[in-house]
Amino acid sequence: MSKKPKAPTLRQFQDRFPTEDACLEHLMRTRFGDRHDCGGCGKSAHYYRVKARRSYACEYCGHQVYPTAGTPFERTRTPLRDWFYVMFMFCASRNGVAAKEVERQLGVTYKTAWRMCHEIREYMGEVDGDEPVGGFTKQVEVDETFIGGKIRGSDRRFQNKTIVVGMLERGGDIVTRIVPNRRSGALLPVIKHSVKLHSIVHTDEHKSYGGLAMYGYYHETVNHSGGEYVSAKGSTVNGIEGFWSQLKRGINGTHIHVSGKHLPKYLAEFEFRRNMRHSPHLMIDHLMVSFSR
Ligand SMILES: [Zn+2]
Repeated sequence: MSKKPKAPTLRQFQDRFPTEDACLEHLMRTRFGDRHDCGGCGKSAHYYRVKARRSYACEYCGHQVYPTAGTPFERTRTPLRDWFYVMFMFCASRNGVAAKEVERQLGVTYKTAWRMCHEIREYMGEVDGDEPVGGFTKQVEVDETFIGGKIRGSDRRFQNKTIVVGMLERGGDIVTRIVPNRRSGALLPVIKHSVKLHSIVHTDEHKSYGGLAMYGYYHETVNHSGGEYVSAKGSTVNGIEGFWSQLKRGINGTHIHVSGKHLPKYLAEFEFRRNMRHSPHLMIDHLMVSFSR
């Protein structure tokens, strides 16, 4: 039996990116290859490093390219090595990375650390993508949860909380979306957008899911209030509930407060890690080679 692939160690990662120049070189080659058609003279050109700048120049006309342009590292004085290291932290952790920890380990200001973390979360979301899940004969669990805010007595339970709906394909990926409320008018369009038609959709008995069959799904429900966690037909939403607990553990354990405004970035981060869970050895690589041109 082959061993489960492992994520690279910090040592391996640091050996791969030992200097600032090595990081810039990586970005350049990942985004532009060894040669590319020059934006200045149009020739297929090799670009050489311009000393004292974060740029490369065309061997024929001197036209310059900045490999950081359009990446999270653009317009920052923070060394690329620090950025790469924090990306490594994000891939290596289970529960997320606190800005305080980045501040401590890199010796940067809290403000810088906080900004880096948010840029990386956002980028993880981009890399993770937005593809719909499910499809004919595929099983998709759909469920909502409340994140953040304070519980202030039973009648105002949900005040300041943000509602997130998650759609998880069994054996596949998860997609999450923030919704304004739990009514069918808010939930069904989101499901229609992110779950392919003819999927077998599993939900709890929340009434708003009632219209799913009309939308072209096979709908199975599990009755939580009746103490039933697996229905007679084998319907459960246990998979997505596992994701919610992981997400909440991560957010509550690592962050003091996550506002509704920033929540999408945390969701992106947890989705990325979860969707890469079977290939931890590729997680950081996937982040390191996905910078678009
Ligand atoms: Zn040129």
